[in-house]
Amino acid sequence: MPNQYQRFFSVSLIFALLIGALPSQFYAQRRANKTPLGKELKLDLLIKGGTVIDGSGSAPVKNDIGIRGDRIVFVGKSARLKVNAARTLDAAGLIVASGFVDPHTHALEDLSNPKSSGNENYLMQGVTTVVTGNDGDGPFRVAETLEKWERQGIGTNAALLVGHGSVRRQIMGAVDAEPSMEQLAKMKNLIGTAMSEGAFGMSTGLYYAPGSFAKTEEVIALAKAVAEKGGVYDTHMRDEGSYSIGLLGSIRETIRIGREAKIPVHISHIKALGKDVWGQSRQVVRIIKQARAAGIRVTANQYPYTASGTNIIAALVPRWAEAGGNAELLKRIKDPQIRPRLVVEMEANLKRRNGAEAILITRSRDRELIGKTLGAIAQERKKSPVETALDIAENGGAGIASFNMSKSDIEYFMKQNFVMTGSDGSSGHPRKYGTFPRKLREYVFGKKLITLSFAIRASSALTAETFRIPERGLLKVGYFADVIVFDPKTVHDRATYEQPETLATGMKYVVVNGKISVDEGKYTGMLAGRALRKTHSDKLNRNLQP
Ligand SMILES: [Zn+2]
Repeated sequence: MPNQYQRFFSVSLIFALLIGALPSQFYAQRRANKTPLGKELKLDLLIKGGTVIDGSGSAPVKNDIGIRGDRIVFVGKSARLKVNAARTLDAAGLIVASGFVDPHTHALEDLSNPKSSGNENYLMQGVTTVVTGNDGDGPFRVAETLEKWERQGIGTNAALLVGHGSVRRQIMGAVDAEPSMEQLAKMKNLIGTAMSEGAFGMSTGLYYAPGSFAKTEEVIALAKAVAEKGGVYDTHMRDEGSYSIGLLGSIRETIRIGREAKIPVHISHIKALGKDVWGQSRQVVRIIKQARAAGIRVTANQYPYTASGTNIIAALVPRWAEAGGNAELLKRIKDPQIRPRLVVEMEANLKRRNGAEAILITRSRDRELIGKTLGAIAQERKKSPVETALDIAENGGAGIASFNMSKSDIEYFMKQNFVMTGSDGSSGHPRKYGTFPRKLREYVFGKKLITLSFAIRASSALTAETFRIPERGLLKVGYFADVIVFDPKTVHDRATYEQPETLATGMKYVVVNGKISVDEGKYTGMLAGRALRKTHSDKLNRNLQP
């Protein structure tokens, strides 16, 4: 039996422990933001009084967003709580949305160059994550690229696709041939490694050389290696017009790849290219809907411009003339035995693109050409448009804006719930600086073709979901704090075909991983983006440092 002294001692000890434990428990609970005691919410950033559109497609709600570190920790009415925020952004009268995710960019070079790695043209559009490596051009050395970005710092988050064209060129060169079993195995190997190093999928550019030299069976075999690692298939299809297998044939080819490789397929910059196929958007959507109903995951992205951006060789020269690479092409152009056949086919291709007045030179070594149509240059030189195009091809080529889409097709594609916003941003075309705000200004606020919630879902959550980028694309507690605050009255693209490198306006704040990268409408120089790696563990993703 314990004596009185012992009993008193143990009771005191229990009391002391309880009292000692209470405060730490109290603070721990407050830190975890779950406690009924005090209800103090400690934040790095509070975005207050805005109209919140969370990216899911649901209706706008007046709410506040709380951010701590790189995460969203609160969505709701903060007035009921005691809030201790290091900084508060007043969002009254403004839209607060999930940062935009762009599924198709050519930002690889900009991100890799310390002078342009801020990706300011995207931040000013509200884009906080870009996918790059599209059109079959993505690097197969994925780890090397991601590590470089991490070392140098990048302004937006960025995810990579391994390029089928790059892999094919590495293993087979620029030949127009089928791979041997050994070459196919080597290609699979490179792709498997790229996926293990963090690529989110594989892109193809079946319209371009050398992707165009690949048969569907080759693409299916390689896509299987991507599917095994949970990746997606992204494509610039073999034909968006009437060049070879046609727009509908290409849609069917893409769906077949999805079905046979058991992989989600994504059609980049969906369009009906050229008058021959204008109006086919209806059939395209019907075919895609059937495939989706049959369980094949088919999605697409689109930019809101009637001109595509490419180069004069890709647009007009037939692929057989490119076999073996550029030096071989130049030889064929000079060869009097071959040139006539080239001219005939190029004339047909020019017609497919609505003629010489529909081709605008946007980039060229010869600066005199920039801003002129191929038709105007041909007239100046007193040559045919195709002869003029061959001269340009022989003198280093040229970037072009090719006016080949109808507004009616663009609008029909835009209304589909599986079509997301994608810039395909390339130098010389205003889409690199204007895509996302242009869609809001022209199609949400102007024509009222789609609602703001629909447009924001198509520019954020739908894309993150499609490319399997975890914990981004939604304003949701626990998700990364990629948040944009913009003025619906002033959100505006400013880039034009004449001045393609003009920043968009209207983004008041852009937050990337919890850091304010655009403040009062100006880029802060912050490099808060992360090189994203595909992984099966969220923890790994979380531990990635910028
Ligand atoms: Zn493309």
